[in-house]
Amino acid sequence: MIKYTEPWGFSKMETYKACKKKFYYQYIEKRKEGSEGNAAMERGGKIHETIEAYLQGWITSMPEAQVDPVWQPRLDELKAKPLFTSEQAIGLDNKWKPLKNWFQEGTWVRAKMDADYFEEQTVGVVDFKTGKFRVPSDEQIELYAIIGISKHPTATKARAEYWFLDMDDAYTKEYTAEYLAARRKYYEEFANKLYTTEVWPEEPSRECKWCPFSKSKGGPCKF
Ligand code: SF4
Repeated sequence: MIKYTEPWGFSKMETYKACKKKFYYQYIEKRKEGSEGNAAMERGGKIHETIEAYLQGWITSMPEAQVDPVWQPRLDELKAKPLFTSEQAIGLDNKWKPLKNWFQEGTWVRAKMDADYFEEQTVGVVDFKTGKFRVPSDEQIELYAIIGISKHPTATKARAEYWFLDMDDAYTKEYTAEYLAARRKYYEEFANKLYTTEVWPEEPSRECKWCPFSKSKGGPCKF
């Protein structure tokens, strides 16, 4: 009977819901299968690093081969917003209270926002995406919005923005603070389930095809 005791976050929630055994391999046994990434992930990682360097002022222009120039004025506008931060690693305790850093004792949930700001009582959280336009998971944007509003508790609204850098497109969703406060319960129930789980069975599905722990990929799973 092994329990998971470390902080959770959106990727962990997604993995747990897909298959408990996959969660076990990845986050309890911390196996390395699948951690080497692929070309698309590497490209996405490099583009994120370039944008971070631009937003932090470490570089003054971005290589066109990496980021379409159409994004530069939008990034300028973003970094000029009040209380702007980029690539901030946020840790919160189980009362949704932000902690000094995400390694602090008592860290319950973690998130890394590509960018966030606070203007006119609205918290904005921005995630940069590479590849095709895909409507993001409701849970991911909602969780980021809840965490953003926890950081700025006087906010009355949260705006979650997904910038699709390869597509010159964006997806935006807005929430009221009341709605997000009520939705906390859903994530608290998930965390409670995660931290009380003692058995980690295989839950085979079409996801097995891409799972790095699958038999077909030479992994330890029987599926
Ligand atoms: S191969 Fe399928 S059943 Fe096995 S760990 Fe991966 S997702 Fe779960």
